[in-house]
Amino acid sequence: SKEKERSSVFESRCKMSSERPGILLAVSSPSGAGKTTLCTRLRAEVPRLGFSVSYTTRAPRAGEVDGREYHFVSMERFDEMNYGGEFAESARVHGNMYGTAIEQVESAVAHGHDLLFDIDFQGAQQLASHEVFEQYMTRVFILPPSLRELEQRLRRRATDADEVIERRLRMARMELAHYHEYEYVIVNDDIDSAYDALRAVYLSQLQRVSRQHGAARGLLLDGD
Ligand code: 5GP
Repeated sequence: SKEKERSSVFESRCKMSSERPGILLAVSSPSGAGKTTLCTRLRAEVPRLGFSVSYTTRAPRAGEVDGREYHFVSMERFDEMNYGGEFAESARVHGNMYGTAIEQVESAVAHGHDLLFDIDFQGAQQLASHEVFEQYMTRVFILPPSLRELEQRLRRRATDADEVIERRLRMARMELAHYHEYEYVIVNDDIDSAYDALRAVYLSQLQRVSRQHGAARGLLLDGD
């Protein structure tokens, strides 16, 4: 299949650079802009791309599994982790707390693994100003084609109550204002072309010279 073919392209490119710095890919957007769909697709195509499972104090939605989408924790536990310095970043979003465990990021960096973050602008900012993680970061902002379209998507999804949708729409305008803090911006007016763009961003990070020393050195050390 095409997916499989594409997957093997990634695998062979990765083989050339097995000993390389990892890619920390942060993707942000207002809810309803299609970020989750795009991220899920990238992870399906690139199995080696891990997902950073955040901690949150919000209640699980239908279908969400503890430890898969999020680690669902109490406010007390979240505070405890926060005070203990266990988060690489943390932020209040839509009235709930969210945080990325420092341990998961450190482990990815130490092993040269790639990690995908679905985090808001505050989190992306914090990771991008982290003295160690900053150099591995790539930040992408997904824009909805219009606010009207965003509202329709939120209503179609209908996993949230009306007042939650209203609040998220108001928040969306505020979040959108942070697009310029990102390195890449992708307008999701067509899911396939938006996906191609996200894939291209990831691929371009793989080809950076800092991640291809292994390939070049392999040739230089080759006697022939
Ligand atoms: P939701 O509750 O809809 O899953 O996520 C709400 C928002 O929180 C999304 O914009 C998502 O990207 C963001 N978010 C999820 N996990 C984290 C995290 O660990 N840190 C930060 N800063 N934001 C997060």
